[in-house]
Amino acid sequence: MVTTRTPLIAGNWKMNLDHLQAIAFVQKLAWSLKDAKHDFSSVEAVVFPPATDLRSVQTLLDADKLELGLGAQDLSSHDSGAYTGEISGAFLRALDVQYVLVGHSERRTLHSEGDDVVASKVAAAHRHGLVPMICVGETAADLEEHGPSAVPVAQLRASLTEVPADAEIVVAYEPVWAIGSGQAATPEQAQQVCAALREALVEIAGPERAATTRVLYGGSVKSNNIASFLREPDVDGALVGGASLDVAEFTSIVRFRSHVGV
Ligand code: PEP
Repeated sequence: MVTTRTPLIAGNWKMNLDHLQAIAFVQKLAWSLKDAKHDFSSVEAVVFPPATDLRSVQTLLDADKLELGLGAQDLSSHDSGAYTGEISGAFLRALDVQYVLVGHSERRTLHSEGDDVVASKVAAAHRHGLVPMICVGETAADLEEHGPSAVPVAQLRASLTEVPADAEIVVAYEPVWAIGSGQAATPEQAQQVCAALREALVEIAGPERAATTRVLYGGSVKSNNIASFLREPDVDGALVGGASLDVAEFTSIVRFRSHVGV
């Protein structure tokens, strides 16, 4: 099937780089992509800095007319009010943030965010015109007990209960056992689950929305394996953690089309 889905490479910095380091990093990344004559219309690149960096990065992107996209790592399910420490989707939108991660395994595990919280954060993102990048994935124990697709598909279904079927989303399949472990899924494993997620989207949102929604793979993606994932028909990009903190490595991942055999 011919697809019009523009590949998306997302860099999740996690809790790394303060706002001064972020400015220096984004300047270097922009130069590196410019040097490589990167065509942003053929592969979209988005950075997800810590919340305290967003204003600085947004100012830089704006001033220098850089084509990098901007994402946030989390948002509140509430819009405003007495929620100490929380960040509203409205505030993110006011900073021209386009995407927001929801359901990342580190938030599910370290902050006890269950499917209900994920669904309400997806709804909050939608209310404020942000595109939620919904992370789903199974643990090693889930894989053993339920096989490859059951848990990610169930998480995706649960995450979409509070938004209209036509809400714009990005899905990121991130097997928990592959995150930060150096042990990436095989391209075939990624394809199998990404295809199952797309099939679920056909049921939930209809064939057109399923055909235009980007489904990414994440988990120990590096410059030496990115091309093998992007060769798979249902893998539309990557969510990259560790390797997104290295300018040369992230540039090479964004430039996967220049790798041999793609
Ligand atoms: C992530 O945390 O989303 C991730 C994919 O991390 P890493 O690339 O380091 O495995």
